[in-house]
Amino acid sequence: MQAGEGVFKMEPEELLRLLPAVHEVLGREELAPAVATDRSGARDCVRRVLEEWRERILREGAEPPGTAELAAQAAALFQRRARPSLRRVINATGVVLHTNLGRALLSPAAVEAVAACAAHYCNLEMDLATGERGSRYGHVVELLQEITGAEAALVVNNNAAAVFLCLAALAAGRDTVISRGQMVEIGGSFRVPEVMAQSGTRLVEVGTTNKTYLSDYERAISGDTALLLKVHPSNYRVLGFTAEVSTAELVSLGRKYGIPVMEDLGSGSFLDLGEYGLGHEPTVREEVAAGVDILTFSGDKLLGGPQAGIIVGRSELVQKVARHPLNRAVRIDKMTLAALEATLRAYRDPERARQEIPTLRLLTLSGEELARRAARLGELLAEKIGGRAEVAVKEVSSQVGGGALPLATLPSWGVTVRPVRMSAARAAEKLRQEEPPVLARIQDENLIFDLRTVLPGEEADIVRALAQVLA
Ligand SMILES: *Cc1c(COP(=O)(O)O)cnc(C)c1O
Repeated sequence: MQAGEGVFKMEPEELLRLLPAVHEVLGREELAPAVATDRSGARDCVRRVLEEWRERILREGAEPPGTAELAAQAAALFQRRARPSLRRVINATGVVLHTNLGRALLSPAAVEAVAACAAHYCNLEMDLATGERGSRYGHVVELLQEITGAEAALVVNNNAAAVFLCLAALAAGRDTVISRGQMVEIGGSFRVPEVMAQSGTRLVEVGTTNKTYLSDYERAISGDTALLLKVHPSNYRVLGFTAEVSTAELVSLGRKYGIPVMEDLGSGSFLDLGEYGLGHEPTVREEVAAGVDILTFSGDKLLGGPQAGIIVGRSELVQKVARHPLNRAVRIDKMTLAALEATLRAYRDPERARQEIPTLRLLTLSGEELARRAARLGELLAEKIGGRAEVAVKEVSSQVGGGALPLATLPSWGVTVRPVRMSAARAAEKLRQEEPPVLARIQDENLIFDLRTVLPGEEADIVRALAQVLA
């Protein structure tokens, strides 16, 4: 009897006998390239595929495919295994700080510094002048003092860790006062009230969702108050009938009662982005100058460096945070420090920072340049996929991302592609399987490729990937 013929269902033992031997599959032409590169790896893949089919036969009585199909499945598995899981992608979404796509890109100087420290020994904790043990934080403290005007600085793994560590070190077992309007969730499970609870501080919430006054804070202060906390609401805004207490007012209240003010700035910009038409975010220097006692912010948001949490502020408080035993658990590593130092160095000259740090460069690209590049990509695409999709060059809007400036939309230029024979969602899915994967936005059955986040030279990859996907 043939497999699948007639009304008789084959017994599992018969179905198992239909599976070919490993060497029969391995000899098929579908696997020839895999065998030529790594014969034992290819054999492992054939074994895995045959094993999976054996299990399916026993579990559901499934009928196995022929030897050619089994070889094709093993070849696909071989290819998947040969590819790194974490790899470069093309970001055509227009979201500059895309958390799912790795946030900030490092500058060439930062990449070089990482490579040098990763491949060689480095003076991570060695004072080269004396030959004695040094501090890993020493490599960036002076730069941070210079850029922010703060007395002292410390760096940890990320801003979530920075906030947690500061609360644990400065306010565990005592009260931290915060406005109800700032009890936010940043995403990725960072929720202010939960972080506060875990740190061991007691949360004292004041005011209402939309309005909080200085008198609300003042009424909540008691002998148990350890901190007045201000949190940047990052990715959301309360608009309309609202009131928040300014940093200066909160600082004067803190001074009056001898209670330090802490601020989680989130993004922590060093430059006034208002000068570039991006809307004003308080800079770290402004907040330090306003008298905030301790501030935390991310390294890989508007700052444009590696993932890190930066803490700056008054010496006595920063020292206390540094001495907390949990500091070791959220310690920054040498590669991050190398990238951070190189990024901070660029800020000594703001114009150099704007040109060298990719995040700042992408955020401040000129409309003319974006329009010119979009027109060129549009031409290339019309030429290659003209019959298979409607291609148009359009004005679009990009986003900053990373919870920074949520309401700011950056005018940009892009190419829209409306596939003729498949949905935009299906085309987007297939684009993600290309090498390098291409990430686009979808709007009204159109794929949108926003040139702001497409790096120069990546246009050719987009054209090739789309031609393949729509073939
Ligand atoms: C992004 C953000 C965080 C978390 O920072 P990570 O560096 O991602 O850990 C915390 N607080 C605010 C206000 C943020 O915007």
